[in-house]
Amino acid sequence: MAGLCAAARARELGGRPVVFEKGSRPGGSMRISSCVIWRYRTFERFRAECPGGDPSLQRQVFEHLDDGLDWLESLGVDVVYRETGNELTTGVRFEPESLTEALVRGAGEVRLEASAAPSADEAVILATGGFQGNPALVAEYVAPAAPLSLRANRWSTGAGLGAGLERGATLSGGMGEFYGRNMPDADVSEHAFVTAAQLYARHALVLNEHGHEFLRQPVSWSETEVVQATAQQPGASAWYLVTDEALRERVRGRTVSDMVATAEAAGGTVLNPCDLPFPTPAGLVRGVRVRAAITHTIGGLRIDERARVLAGDGSPIEGLYACGADVGGISTGGYASGLAAALVFGRIAAENALS
Ligand SMILES: Cc1cc2nc3c(=O)[nH]c(=O)nc-3n(C[C@H](O)[C@H](O)[C@H](O)COP(=O)(O)OP(=O)(O)OC[C@H]3O[C@@H](n4cnc5c(N)ncnc54)[C@H](O)[C@@H]3O)c2cc1C
Repeated sequence: MAGLCAAARARELGGRPVVFEKGSRPGGSMRISSCVIWRYRTFERFRAECPGGDPSLQRQVFEHLDDGLDWLESLGVDVVYRETGNELTTGVRFEPESLTEALVRGAGEVRLEASAAPSADEAVILATGGFQGNPALVAEYVAPAAPLSLRANRWSTGAGLGAGLERGATLSGGMGEFYGRNMPDADVSEHAFVTAAQLYARHALVLNEHGHEFLRQPVSWSETEVVQATAQQPGASAWYLVTDEALRERVRGRTVSDMVATAEAAGGTVLNPCDLPFPTPAGLVRGVRVRAAITHTIGGLRIDERARVLAGDGSPIEGLYACGADVGGISTGGYASGLAAALVFGRIAAENALS
C-alpha cells in the first residue's frame, strides 16, 4: 500500500519511480485486507487511543487522510461504502483488487519478485510492510511466549528495518507492540484472514491454557491489547468461553455464534466447556481455542513528518524515506488504521523525495 501510493504520487508529480516488489503479486497485505481506510473523528481521540505515538506524525495522518481518500477515488478505485461502522472513526471501505489495479496503473513500473539495488544518487523509499513475517525479529522485539501465527502477506520480513538500520536509522518506541487478531488454532488460509478472526473477547470469559484469567483491563473496541496479552500466555493461545446469551451478541455485523461456527469450519478447536482440562463457571456453552496472530508490527523506523528516516542524533538521513508498517510511532499504545498511515506517508514520502 505505502510503496504503491508513493510511486503513483511520484509519477503524478513527474518523477520516474520504480517499485521493487519482492512478492509474486503486487498489493501486499492491503490486497488481502478488509480495506477500510480510516481515522479517528477527532485528533484528541486519536491521541487518547494511541498515547505512545508521535503527535507530529499522528497529526499528518489525521489532517491528510481525507485528501488521500479523495485521491484514491480520483484514480478510479471502487468504493464499497463510505463508513466504518464505528462511531469513533470515519473512513471509506475500498475494494482491494480495484485499489491494487489502480495503484499499479498509477505507479507505472512495478517489478515483481525483484529486489532493489539503488545507486547512491537515487532517493529510496522503504515500504516493505514491517517485520511480522520474520520469526527471529518477532522473537527479538515482540518476545511472545511462543511463535505467533502470521496473518499478513508472507514477504514482509523486516527488509526495510534492516536497510534503515544499516544506514544509521534509529528505532521508534513500541517495538514490542503489534496489531493482530486472535484466530482459530488451525491453519487459516489468507483468504479467510478476515472472516475467521475471533473478535468477541468483550463477550467472553478469556482464560489461558491453565484456566487463569489474564486480561487486566476492560476490553477495548479494537481488542488489540487482548491479542498482545494472548501472545504472552503459554503457547501464545487462549480460550474464549461464551454463554448462550453471548452467542447472540453482534460484533461488526456478525453474531458471536457466526464467528464460533467459522472457527469450527476452519478446523479450529471448539469444545463444550465441561471437556476442558480445568474447571469453568456454570452457564458457559462453548469454548473456542484461539491463537495470537500478527498482522503487522507497530514499532519500526523513526521518521519525521516529511517521512525522512531519522538517525540517532535526530537528523534526517540523506535520500532515505520510509512509510507504511516499516515506520513506527503512529499507532503506538493502541490501534489506528495501517492503511491510512501507509496512504498518507506514502504520498508524503514521494512529495519530499522529489522536492
Ligand atoms: C486480513 C487483514 C485485514 C486488514 N484490514 C485492514 C483494514 O480494514 N484497515 C486497515 O487500515 N488496515 C488493515 N489491515 C492492515 C493493512 O493491510 C496494513 O496496515 C497495510 O497493508 C500496511 O501497508 P504497507 O505498505 O506497510 O504493507 P503491505 O501493504 O503489506 O506492503 C508491503 C509490500 O512490501 C513487499 N516487500 C516486503 N519485503 C520486500 C523487499 N525486501 N523488497 C521488495 N518488496 C518487499 C511485500 O511483498 C508487500 O507487497 C489488514 C491486514 C490484513 C492482513
